[in-house]
Amino acid sequence: MMFLDQAKIHLRSGWGGDGCVAFRREKFLEFGGPDGGDGGRGGHIFFEAVPGLNTLIDFRYRQHFRAGRGHHGMGGNRTGAAGADLVIPVPVGTQVLADDEARTLLLDLVVAKERVLFLRGGDGGKGNAHFRSATNRAPRQAQKGFPGKEMSVWLRLKLLADVGLVGLPNAGKSSFLNAVTRANAKVGAYGFTTLKPQLGVARSRGREFVLADIPGLIAGAAEGAGIGTRFLGHVERCRCLLHLVDVMSPHPTADWRTVRHELSRYGAGLEAKPEIVLLTKCDLATPARVRQIAGHLARVTGQPPLPVSSLTGLGLETALDRVASELRLEPQAGAAIWSPA
Ligand code: GDP
Ligand code: MG
Repeated sequence: MMFLDQAKIHLRSGWGGDGCVAFRREKFLEFGGPDGGDGGRGGHIFFEAVPGLNTLIDFRYRQHFRAGRGHHGMGGNRTGAAGADLVIPVPVGTQVLADDEARTLLLDLVVAKERVLFLRGGDGGKGNAHFRSATNRAPRQAQKGFPGKEMSVWLRLKLLADVGLVGLPNAGKSSFLNAVTRANAKVGAYGFTTLKPQLGVARSRGREFVLADIPGLIAGAAEGAGIGTRFLGHVERCRCLLHLVDVMSPHPTADWRTVRHELSRYGAGLEAKPEIVLLTKCDLATPARVRQIAGHLARVTGQPPLPVSSLTGLGLETALDRVASELRLEPQAGAAIWSPA
């Protein structure tokens, strides 16, 4: 499946139905009064945040959305039926932005199953029954239905995860996500195997939280180099960052600095988020090397990194425990210490 995190779509709510011109006709009543009913309102357009979706790919195939037209009024004062409403399902975390180069935020769908009325259908026209007056008791006029509203908007997806995994390409983010959740992110010994964010649910002592694996950052990502910056948007909403540093890298502290630099250049508060540093692939290094690198990192980052190995499972439990307490989630009594969700 392809990942698509923004899309432009065109919306049109329904026209209202026309009002009706009609007169009462009964066998023994010569001049029945006007009884043309009102037109029904046009269909509304709603957005609904749907759990379980994590891409806007559907909007690549469909960009035009129209709600139904209201039905016309009828004789006997019958109001026309309302036009069919249209509900557009979007992933939780989708923002709707105006067509002004996406500068104005119109809607932010962050609550699962939340449904928001976005464009009202046009009103139905009034039937001739409304136009009767003392001087005109047989009005032949009725209103036309009112047009719906038309609008082009941008959809932008900012995934909602509790924790964002950051680190240089190859730091072991996808492997970590796979090891602690049931996600199945692609792993490769080369940079940029992760081309779309992956989400997974981790559980630790009955506590659950969502991790997002963000495509690797490279120096200059915040300025558009590589593919990192586009995805940094997804980290914006995370409550904390897990920063993965490869213990086998020739320059682990420089790696950490590079990523921090990109985060601060991106802005949007990424830099200020609580960060937990993990030293990855510790199965590959001697305990002495792990201790040495951990010491260097502690001095630079101000916190001792947690050594982990996604291969052997070393330290994963401790790491998740740290994350859960950073998120201030209470452990549940009697729950399993740790298990892939
Ligand atoms: P990402 O680019 O940060 O997502 O990194 P990946 O998870 O794709 O991992 C990059 C490479 O490091 C892959 O070849 C993985 O198999 C390897 N790797 C990741 N974690 C570990 C680990 O804990 N131990 C070992 N030995 N290799 C790992
Ligand atoms: Mg990856």
